Amino acid sequence: MNYKKIAGSLLILTTITGCGLIEETFYNTSDESSKSETSIDNQSIAADSSVEALTPEEEQQLKEKEERQMMLEELPNVAVSDWNLLLVNNSQLIDPNLDLPLTILPNGYMIDERIEQEYENWLKKASEAGFEIVLVSSYRSVDLQQKNYDSSIQRYIGQNYTQEDAVKETEKYIAIPGGSEHHTGLAVDILDSEWSETGQGLIPEYDTQASQHWLVDNMTDYGFILRFPKGKEAETGINYESWHFRYVGIENAKYIEKYDLSLEEYIELLKEAGK
Ligand SMILES: [Zn+2]
Repeated sequence: MNYKKIAGSLLILTTITGCGLIEETFYNTSDESSKSETSIDNQSIAADSSVEALTPEEEQQLKEKEERQMMLEELPNVAVSDWNLLLVNNSQLIDPNLDLPLTILPNGYMIDERIEQEYENWLKKASEAGFEIVLVSSYRSVDLQQKNYDSSIQRYIGQNYTQEDAVKETEKYIAIPGGSEHHTGLAVDILDSEWSETGQGLIPEYDTQASQHWLVDNMTDYGFILRFPKGKEAETGINYESWHFRYVGIENAKYIEKYDLSLEEYIELLKEAGK
């Protein structure tokens, strides 16, 4: 991503400038000092280990580097190739030959059978807390996504949008065919029955409801994450969706929640760690 490149260049720039500053400070000091016998090597070591000479920017960089190192060390023992970490988005389309073990839920919707138990447990717990959760969408074939995508574009064109703008508006929420996470069978769009009955449906404001807060507060205990969180639009490429939850397994979900990551960022981190 561009901002990472910019950040990288800034890091190199400030590092070079920073070193210059440290040496200058050191030599100024050594002029006044009587230790004229000190070798160049020792001087360099002393300069490098002089924490006081770090600029605020360097301190910040050091802190960020240490935090990243800690994050890498804390990663769970998982692999990016694990079935529950399958990444599908507009730039990484699903493999059409992937054979998914789908199961049909009592309401007719399909999900990956490997997440059924935890999903049911989560909803059962929600029900005990007083929230009747209804499933609005789960597994979707690429063909169905194509239909949804096309009809959304037509709807915008019907509202006098240009073809280009209709596509742009559609893609804010609807992934391109093959790029929807619903192709994985690991994603669910859920609402509570009261909200659903108001007809307001899948809109970000669903997060004004107590049921949504409950779902978010308890999701990682059942291996789910909010897949398109607020503030991560640049990473996910999709606007905030308060209703779209994705199964990744408990240990991945806990880690993602702790460090406030998008799935894209988490997978990048796993790759960086060689997992
Ligand atoms: Zn969804």
